[in-house]
Amino acid sequence: MLHDFFDIISREEFESLLLSFAPTSIEIKSISDAYGLVLGEDIFSPEDLPPANRSCMDGYAVHARDVFGATEGNPAYLEQCAQLRVDEAPDFTLKHGDCAAIPTGGTLPDGADAVVMVEHTQELGSGTIEVRKSSTPGEHTMLKGEDAAKGENIYKAGHTVRFQDVGLLAALGIGSVKAHIKPRVGIISTGDELVEIEVPPRAGTIRDVNSHTLRCLVSKAGGIPANYGIVRDDLNKLKTTLAKAIAENDLVLLSGGSSVGMRDLTVRAIESMEDSEILAHGVAISPGKPTILGKVGSKPVLGLPGQVTSVQVVMLSIVMPFIRHLMGQKDSFACLDRPILLAELERNTPSRQGREDYVRVILKQRKGKIPLAEPVYGKSGLLRTMIKADGLMIIPADMEGSYAGEQIQVWLI
Ligand code: AMP
Ligand code: MG
Repeated sequence: MLHDFFDIISREEFESLLLSFAPTSIEIKSISDAYGLVLGEDIFSPEDLPPANRSCMDGYAVHARDVFGATEGNPAYLEQCAQLRVDEAPDFTLKHGDCAAIPTGGTLPDGADAVVMVEHTQELGSGTIEVRKSSTPGEHTMLKGEDAAKGENIYKAGHTVRFQDVGLLAALGIGSVKAHIKPRVGIISTGDELVEIEVPPRAGTIRDVNSHTLRCLVSKAGGIPANYGIVRDDLNKLKTTLAKAIAENDLVLLSGGSSVGMRDLTVRAIESMEDSEILAHGVAISPGKPTILGKVGSKPVLGLPGQVTSVQVVMLSIVMPFIRHLMGQKDSFACLDRPILLAELERNTPSRQGREDYVRVILKQRKGKIPLAEPVYGKSGLLRTMIKADGLMIIPADMEGSYAGEQIQVWLI
């Protein structure tokens, strides 16, 4: 079927179509290779961490009750019964009135429930220790199982492995985990006017910008980019390159040719593939309306706008969360990955109702106040708006704009 018109759907509808694609397969990865990947399994702690009560400070392990109320003027006196090493597992029970010298990280003897810092003590000779500060149970100690209790569900499938997670897994002796593999993402630039970046400029040609920006953003989202170069506005050539890119990747991105003009061949190229379907042509966002979602077999193909700024906004708002979804991330469109800053809008900013607007803004620091956000207007064919912008402000589809002085959320880019 030939589509020669947009059938524009909302961003939410577009998102739910994207969420119907299945994530990538799961493989066993070493924990350092799993960094940035998404877990494909729930993980349960195999043991208690710490495995025993430990000291957070250099000092003396005590019964908190024995030094309760101690002050500079009214110290408590204890007998030192041991000098513990950091690698020692004490085999005695601390008696009331006794204390044991303990280094940071050392294991507390049974009975001890607090540590007093060495700074608040004085050795008086012949094993007597003066304690000049009160203590409470648990003070300056890390309790057994406080980081992770044996059998606890520490991570759920769908969680992205961060550096601190790698630390916990290492501490628990978990050297490898099941994680979703990175999706391979094919990138095709289309247009008769496009030339490689090495080619000297002349009127009528434009250097291919999108291959390069898309590559960065695919990597940033966690995908593995593969560039298929520039393809002329020639249906047969586009079909050949698209078929190759689909065979070799989990997702294919085409930029340019996504609108409804004579030379806009993306829809036709997708439709010419075997077992293909156009799921959407047009999404109610600005910039970024001429965006196409197709399916070839089980693989997604996205036709993106050619305009250099539009395609960057569509990458940020739709394609990068989609890549995270393909990597197995739960709620990948829920904005939690986005650094957000509160700012005050400098000027009234109108927006057409019925479409979600991504307004580029410059942030101006102010003393003692939240930053001021100045909207940057400009043509989506120019790189300028995105170059100048510090972030994007999203005006929802059901609003006609935002007013000067309003507090807004700016998504830092
Ligand atoms: P199109 O959607 O193919 O009509 O492209 C819209 C505008 O974006 C045209 O002015 C194209 O020259 C420009 N454009 C398309 N693809 C690229 C690209 N890869 N790099 C820079 N500009 C592009
Ligand atoms: Mg074109």
